Amino acid sequence: MNATYDLFGLGIGPFNLSLAALLNLAPELKTKFVDQKTEFEWHPEMMFGDSYMQTSYLKDLVTPVDPTSPHSFLNYLVKNGIFHSFMNTDRGVVSRREFELYCRWVSQNLGDKLQFSTPVHEVRFDQDQFKIETSRGTESARNICIATGLTPRIPACARPFLGGRVFHAKSPAVREMDLTGKRVAIIGGGQTGVEFFRNALLGNWGRPESVRLLTRRPTLEPLDESAFTNEYFTPAYSDEFWRLSGDKKAQIVHSQKLASDGNTPTYLKSLYQDLYRMKHVDQSNADFEILPLRELVSMRQIGQAYELRFYNAFTDSDEAFEADLVILSTGFESVIPAYLDPIRSLIKFDEQGRFAFTKSFSIEWNGPSANRIYALNFSRHHHGISEPQTSLMSWRSALIVNDLARRTIYLNETQAPNFVRYRS
Ligand SMILES: Cc1cc2nc3c(=O)[nH]c(=O)nc-3n(C[C@H](O)[C@H](O)[C@H](O)COP(=O)(O)OP(=O)(O)OC[C@H]3O[C@@H](n4cnc5c(N)ncnc54)[C@H](O)[C@@H]3O)c2cc1C
Repeated sequence: MNATYDLFGLGIGPFNLSLAALLNLAPELKTKFVDQKTEFEWHPEMMFGDSYMQTSYLKDLVTPVDPTSPHSFLNYLVKNGIFHSFMNTDRGVVSRREFELYCRWVSQNLGDKLQFSTPVHEVRFDQDQFKIETSRGTESARNICIATGLTPRIPACARPFLGGRVFHAKSPAVREMDLTGKRVAIIGGGQTGVEFFRNALLGNWGRPESVRLLTRRPTLEPLDESAFTNEYFTPAYSDEFWRLSGDKKAQIVHSQKLASDGNTPTYLKSLYQDLYRMKHVDQSNADFEILPLRELVSMRQIGQAYELRFYNAFTDSDEAFEADLVILSTGFESVIPAYLDPIRSLIKFDEQGRFAFTKSFSIEWNGPSANRIYALNFSRHHHGISEPQTSLMSWRSALIVNDLARRTIYLNETQAPNFVRYRS
């Protein structure tokens, strides 16, 4: 008979890994985290040589709430004997590959608190326990934390064509991609779209005939990383935001898009310099176009190729392009996981079918209040734009650890107020 856990974590991406790492100061809690993957991996389909984090390495899994934790990025550098070399690189951000290596190192140090190669199929509730059905059998837990990630967003008109030549950026097809001699269309002008565009032009998947990037955005827009905007990613701002009404929250989140979803400014600069060099120095005949204010409205197959129709919001007209291969860099959406179906009727949803949240990241439900369902990366509508980002993940994990342990383990020091004041 398996033991009953105080917390069972579903998914081991960075968010649940941060929680698992911070649970080291609550040894009285019996916890387990599982993931379907064979080891820690971080969006490997979208990991290129020039992919960098958009967040400082000090906002790692633990440091903002416990800089003395053995699971910090700095300890990773020290324990691996690379601290001094790293400092000599003189960088404020690390590559996504380095962040993955760091997270994998933490996952290895957490030993049998984590279990990979264990997909979760179903969650049920029986009397006072969750029953988690995994590929290795049934586990029991008083509380669960779901952090199984977002779902690729696919434009409805592209769905019938999904396969080896039309696919989302986060799909296995990327690994086998050969762009040689093809007309490539990249849909979406966020960071993922521009990374595909640049790597395609650099010939990293063979030499394409042409590469077009089409986006609804007005141009390739930079991430706003300035100091006052960065106050959105602070516990104090989160606290202010939490107290707003639902409608006001939606309005504000919409207006903050470029604080979380813009392109890394240094990346845009490198891309621009590459384009300049190709056209005006190397005088190459590389065929590329950046086409903003274009919304994909329909698709049709023509032999081995596709006709893509767009609405051009600059000229208010329709346009059509042909492509042999279409990469949808169209982002992600929050979908309620199917493994929750058996307890769905007990969960409270808002009028838009999203989880209703408590401040400490558990969702509201009609089960016993002593049994909590925490959910990570499902609460942009309640907690704000920091929710899908790593910036405040350790703060969120700390709130959950306190909530579970029913004592203040973290965050008991006074926080200095922000400089921007939203209430008089
Ligand atoms: C390409 C990319 C780059 C990003 N870069 C940044 C950045 O620089 N800075 C920043 O702040 N944010 C960044 N983000 C946003 C955010 O930090 C990441 O999306 C982050 O991975 C979210 O972590 P997560 O743990 O919620 O989900 P994920 O990392 O998606 O992990 C979810 C895990 O759940 C597992 N899983 C799913 N279903 C099951 C199941 N049924 N059973 C068992 N396991 C399951 C998956 O295998 C996966 O390992 C980036 C996002 C992307 C896509």
